[in-house]
Amino acid sequence: MKTERTFSIHTLGCKLNYSESSHISRKLLENGFSISYDPSYIIVNSCAVTGAAEKKGRNLVSKLHREHPAAKVIVIGCYSELDAQKVSEWEGVYRTYGTENKIHLVNHLLGESEPEVPEFFSAFSSLSRTRSFLKIQDGCDYHCTYCTVAKARGNSRSDTIENVMANIKEIHEMGIKEVNLTGVNVGDFGHQTGETLFELLSVIEQSNLIERVRISSIEPNLLTDEIIQLVSQSKTIMPHFHIPLQSGSNKVLQGMKRRYNREFFASKVQHIKQILPDACIAVDVITGFPGESDIDFEDTYTFIEHLPISYLHVFTYSKRPGTPASESKEQIQESIKRSRTNRLLALSDMKKETFYNQFINTKRAVLVEEGVHQNYLYGFTDNYIKVQINNQKELINQIIEVTLTEQNLA
Ligand code: SF4
Repeated sequence: MKTERTFSIHTLGCKLNYSESSHISRKLLENGFSISYDPSYIIVNSCAVTGAAEKKGRNLVSKLHREHPAAKVIVIGCYSELDAQKVSEWEGVYRTYGTENKIHLVNHLLGESEPEVPEFFSAFSSLSRTRSFLKIQDGCDYHCTYCTVAKARGNSRSDTIENVMANIKEIHEMGIKEVNLTGVNVGDFGHQTGETLFELLSVIEQSNLIERVRISSIEPNLLTDEIIQLVSQSKTIMPHFHIPLQSGSNKVLQGMKRRYNREFFASKVQHIKQILPDACIAVDVITGFPGESDIDFEDTYTFIEHLPISYLHVFTYSKRPGTPASESKEQIQESIKRSRTNRLLALSDMKKETFYNQFINTKRAVLVEEGVHQNYLYGFTDNYIKVQINNQKELINQIIEVTLTEQNLA
């Protein structure tokens, strides 16, 4: 039978959203709520990074409302921050919260008064037994001309090192072995509090509290040489970098108002590879930014082709309302954008294969994850190579040495 204190939560978008959804779930569960397939409250943590993400949110809310007409739907997150009015008019929506006050929905559901908006609320995910996404920073003070995330999430702000360490301790006590440090602009950590990401990583390294740490996407201009040096000497911070390039054309980078040029980016990647030859380097790229000519795209393609990176995350540019790039008259045709995306995806596959092949017949440490697919377990090496392992339940959440072969690369 349905009770008033039941909920379900659905998350779209980035790791920050996942960490926050998990945090909200934990708070509700600690306060007498339970998760149900036929809940009284349905929480949707929305995303606005692309037009497609917004559409997905709208469709999800409509589907959930159709399936559970009596449930009260609460929409939180970036889309409801950017367009609360529109979201609140969707059928079935009972309430909306933005990004900074989303945590207040817990107070609301508990019948408490909602506090002042906090500067920063910390959160971490605990849905997986092996890996947690820990939010250490939020918002962004950069103004990249295509980006709506900075607008949706507000100014840059961070947790303190002390609180991050308290969260890591709690994560460790749950038996989780890997922490992914997450934020909108992680490299900006501590900017307002006088601390730095390097200091945080040094404290984590010295604490021996957790087996593995990964740094989520970090701006190239904020990935300092001292951080790279620290990673090269660390047993805890994994040799795995995720760096947004966005374009290999200086003209396009300028139009995006990015804070580096292709020469700087190349020297950063070379420096990592010099000190950490085995490091995995994942790179974000956007295709079809307004004004990106065929020549600009070819510049990007050849630039990436010659860089020792491991694989790409390719995003097709989409107009975000209210951003300077959306006003440009030089929008690129959809079919051209699509074909550029496909070419970069094929290049990414080749890069990944080359990267993986270097390690065949070498031994790497693999953290075995839960979840069995076709009788295999999966895990990632320190340098983020996905490996399949014969299903032996006792290996889950263990870090084991695996010799990589053509057969076990996933
Ligand atoms: S660095 Fe640029 S793209 Fe990234 S969140 Fe900030 S404004 Fe957006």
